[in-house]
Amino acid sequence: RTRTLSGVKPTGHLTLGNYLGALRRWAEEDQHRAESLFFVADLHALTVEHDPARVRRLSRQAAGLLLATGLDPRVCTLFVQSHVDEHARLSYLLGCVATDGEMRRMIQYKEKSARAQAAGQSVRLSLLTYPVLMAADILAYGADEVPVGEDQTQHVELTRDLAERFNQRYGQAFVIPRATRPAAAARVMDLQDPSTKMGKSHGATAGIVYLLDEPDVVTKKVMRAVTDSEAGVTYDREARPGLANLLEILAACTGKEAAALAAGYDAAGAGFGVLKKDVAEAVVELLRPVRARHAELSADPGYVDGVLREGAARARAVARPTVDAAYRAVGLLPPA
Ligand code: ATP
Ligand code: MG
Repeated sequence: RTRTLSGVKPTGHLTLGNYLGALRRWAEEDQHRAESLFFVADLHALTVEHDPARVRRLSRQAAGLLLATGLDPRVCTLFVQSHVDEHARLSYLLGCVATDGEMRRMIQYKEKSARAQAAGQSVRLSLLTYPVLMAADILAYGADEVPVGEDQTQHVELTRDLAERFNQRYGQAFVIPRATRPAAAARVMDLQDPSTKMGKSHGATAGIVYLLDEPDVVTKKVMRAVTDSEAGVTYDREARPGLANLLEILAACTGKEAAALAAGYDAAGAGFGVLKKDVAEAVVELLRPVRARHAELSADPGYVDGVLREGAARARAVARPTVDAAYRAVGLLPPA
């Protein structure tokens, strides 16, 4: 059976980008189709300036939200990354296979290190080595598929490279994984700055729709989205990124093609206002059941903790043998 694995960092409140790029498929498709593991990537949240109490709070909240999106602990495994030692153990080994040059080529490293420096913060070494830990996350479980947004494609490619290199050098230790992407909205852009990916850790919140935003807040953010001053509605990611973003979000919500939607509005002579109103309504409806289930779950925090405890035990049992074998393969003496 296919094995699927993916995660989300507790660096901020989960966004519409996270949902359309990744989370929605985990709940609607992946968990029913494949043997699935999903985790809150709390170790990755320490790669940038962080507040300990906030990371703890956001970790539990993220787990609750994942359950609210429909992840079912009877069919998938949900856990917290730091509860399973194998991630850190394997990360060290993969750091002995990866190169410094490879790490510095990563787009996310370039962007996030520039962001830290602009904010007067130091760049943590763990930000540079982040893709190694991510490779360990994936390879420890022998995942075949990694359902992620477009921004993570480069990291999954690197994971494949590291796995192949390790296998060639030390024997067949790892499954070679591949990234899977949603049909639409694989890269949701910030509504106020359509040249930037919507990101939960970004400070300016006006262009970010959070999963737990009230309906009127969602509507306000969508209605104020930056578009352009050209006439007519066309789908063109390069020339009209703001408009294309709205069309892609609507496409993801309705299951229609962005270009076909654009042609429909254009033929009807409808302006941006009509489109934005439709997008706002579609997003509010899409998120309504998630918000409702999240409210129910919040009444019972012990339930989430129980799911995470069982999930960690199951995850350990899957990862331990693979990581132990990798330790032996590179020449480390097994404990007597
Ligand atoms: P951060 O700003 O801390 O990096 P993030 O919003 O990018 O937060 P991650 O935890 O890094 O969220 O990513 C979780 C998942 O959501 C990944 O699969 C990632 O590809 C996906 N994702 C993140 N942002 C977007 C986006 N704007 N559009 C589509 N998918 C996204
Ligand atoms: Mg990210």
